[in-house]
Amino acid sequence: MTLPFRVHRTLCTYIRLPPISLLSLAACASITRETQSAKMPGKGLLERLENGGSVLIAEGYLWEFERRGYIQQGAHVPEVVLEHPELVKIMHEEFVHAGSDVCEAFTYYGNREKLRFIGREDDLEKLNRMALKMAREVADRTGTLMAGGICNTGVYQPDQPETHEQVRAMYKEQVEWAVEEGADYMIAETIDSLGEAKIALETIQKYGKGMSAVVTLGCYVPEETTDEVPIVEACRILEELGAAVVGLNCGRGPKTMLPLLRQVREACKGPIAALPVTYRTRGDCKSFMSLKDPDSGKYVYPINVATCLCGRDEIREFAEEAKAIGVNYIGLCCGNAPNYFRELAEVYGRTPEACRYRPNMTFNYIFGDTEKTDKYDVKKLRQYMVTGKE
Ligand SMILES: [Zn+2]
Repeated sequence: MTLPFRVHRTLCTYIRLPPISLLSLAACASITRETQSAKMPGKGLLERLENGGSVLIAEGYLWEFERRGYIQQGAHVPEVVLEHPELVKIMHEEFVHAGSDVCEAFTYYGNREKLRFIGREDDLEKLNRMALKMAREVADRTGTLMAGGICNTGVYQPDQPETHEQVRAMYKEQVEWAVEEGADYMIAETIDSLGEAKIALETIQKYGKGMSAVVTLGCYVPEETTDEVPIVEACRILEELGAAVVGLNCGRGPKTMLPLLRQVREACKGPIAALPVTYRTRGDCKSFMSLKDPDSGKYVYPINVATCLCGRDEIREFAEEAKAIGVNYIGLCCGNAPNYFRELAEVYGRTPEACRYRPNMTFNYIFGDTEKTDKYDVKKLRQYMVTGKE
């Protein structure tokens, strides 16, 4: 039986997962050779994570495309996939260039409810398939993983069973498209209730043809899900139910996510995930939605959050702490940019191509202090720039 390359590759990813036939194993062996010849590592999510390995994942597509003027703040539907697919592909490439091990298909908020909301339900399948195909293409070319993604729907209500069925149906179609387009694994992310996260996990297990599931919760101000389960306990339950990786994604920035990560690490046995936003959340503003402008005291979310962005050093410090805690599936969410991601990648021992361009101020003609820059008499200019006239 001859299978298309993509199907072979997908089978390979499943090797550590539910029962596969000997025929599939044979297909795996042959494709491993094919993959190596194409200079692709060919390692699945679980293989990369075993023996203390780590997986780095750049996210934050939605926020970054909004910043660039291609997504509307509010509905937050990834229409850029349909209108400017070439830009989505480039963003995958930029994040890989900065150290991402994963190209996540940009299907965030690309579900039936969201598309219906903006009157584009007819484009739902097209959007999902295009996003998945582009991520697959860049992943194949760069030897990275391709993940399909589902997220919180806004529909789920714990005490209304009919909403559970609606959510299940939305997840099912997205998972099936991800399977057909050759995703290596599935992400269910930023889900705020344990109930909806369980439906996401069940749907991946039922329709994902053996794909691993990474399930991450969105944690905001209280340290519990919106159906009032402590976040740490919810992570433990999701792991027990079979999620390959559990953890936190979005909502909180580095400083307010770290204390929870320590607890999640203690409660869970397997790999844990951390993808904070890149904003300066703190004790009295634990989520980036709750941040206030230090000058005016006004809430800054969503359009003025840039006033509270982290510095690159803070991202590096976060990555160092996370690594020490034992977070091995790590990334950044809203506010992410390649220059942040490079910091994280370096802490985790990577040297992505972007490292070639990491800052080196010794070559700067004003602030450098090498023989090369000594010839410039810039003392006065530097004084004007930094301290002002004495
Ligand atoms: Zn986010």
